Amino acid sequence: MKTLVIGGGIVGLSAAWALKRAGADVTVIEQGPLPNPLGSSVDQHRLIRYAYGAQRGYVRMVREAYHAWERVWSDLRMRLYAETGTLILSGANDAWAKQSCIALAAEEVEHLAFDAEMVAGRYPMLIGDDLSDAYYCPSGGVLFAEAIVAALTTHLRERAVALLTGAKAVAIDAAAATVTLADGSRLAADRLLVAAGPWTAQLLPDLAPLSRSSRQVVVYLTPPAELAAAWHAAPMLLEIGEAKGFYLVPPRITRDGMRTGLKIGDHRFGPTADPGGERLPRQDEIDAILANARHRIAGLERYRVAQAKTCFYDVEADERFQLRRLGPRALALCGTSGHGFKFGPVLGERIAAVLQDKAEFDAAARWVAGHGA
Ligand SMILES: Cc1cc2nc3c(=O)[nH]c(=O)nc-3n(C[C@H](O)[C@H](O)[C@H](O)COP(=O)(O)OP(=O)(O)OC[C@H]3O[C@@H](n4cnc5c(N)ncnc54)[C@H](O)[C@@H]3O)c2cc1C
Repeated sequence: MKTLVIGGGIVGLSAAWALKRAGADVTVIEQGPLPNPLGSSVDQHRLIRYAYGAQRGYVRMVREAYHAWERVWSDLRMRLYAETGTLILSGANDAWAKQSCIALAAEEVEHLAFDAEMVAGRYPMLIGDDLSDAYYCPSGGVLFAEAIVAALTTHLRERAVALLTGAKAVAIDAAAATVTLADGSRLAADRLLVAAGPWTAQLLPDLAPLSRSSRQVVVYLTPPAELAAAWHAAPMLLEIGEAKGFYLVPPRITRDGMRTGLKIGDHRFGPTADPGGERLPRQDEIDAILANARHRIAGLERYRVAQAKTCFYDVEADERFQLRRLGPRALALCGTSGHGFKFGPVLGERIAAVLQDKAEFDAAARWVAGHGA
């Protein structure tokens, strides 16, 4: 079965991986290079964690995601993941940690309650004041995103998946499963998937309400030298409720010598902007990220900003991913809302099954949106 996949981010590449495994003849159409540094999937790291506030469907999906990543590691013959554990915090007037704990308990995910002294005692680089809730999960960790996208690209090329780079899709005919590229050429197939991330609404304006491209700034920090070892052993940190907060990705050195940095960001959505437009983070955007973390990271003024980057979320208002039928032979996946990387392979497998008529669309769409069993 000939299948076209528009988009070479983690969703498109994972779908291509799963389709190829299932015997399809696959072509990936990517407007940039592969990996595309402007895509949402290409940064040093992305987190995988069970803590999900009240969204229990996604807690369950994380378990399935881990299994799917095992199949990816096996095919890639490398494991591009470091387990860090997860520290889940909420300040006063914020229920996210407590809601996460209820869902973790219901789904039997191991976690421990900490108090403010335990947090400050175990992690001297943190401030325990003003904590209403704190939990620790031994599970959760860092997916080395850029390396994963690069390795998947190499793997797909070796498996004779056609990877068209510098190929921008400008129109699709969903009923016919055909794609028109910017150079005027047309490609036809039996099945079509659009996985265009934050560019979705540019190609498919009808999906704009489900896919807002949101400008998000992340800041890489160099900690004071005496804290470097502590940060290399630290868990990821999530304080991402409605109130002021941030997430922190701890630095790691992998067994084969890959070094990744200490990164902080704000999961709350930013302003709408063109993902193909200006990317340089402004000083006020960097300052806002640092301000969100100052109450929790002791002596933050002693940390040096090593780098700041702009990336784009593809936002659905309730943060629920959307699988849409564009025609009898065409699907789109969008709205990954800043939390889709961890699910790339498991989404890819389910989308491939629907495209190949091996799974039912409605059930898949519910599961994708975090409402599944
Ligand atoms: C700052 C930040 C932090 C995040 N942290 C996490 C995290 O910790 N954990 C987590 O699970 N997720 C996280 N996410 C979300 C995650 O990265 C995204 O959900 C995921 O990468 C989306 O993948 P994608 O394939 O849908 O989109 P993308 O990676 O953006 O891929 C879409 C691709 O389609 C191509 N494309 C678009 N339009 C066209 C066209 N017309 N023709 C040809 N090609 C086209 C683009 O060039 C792009 O390469 C984060 C995102 C950001 C920005």
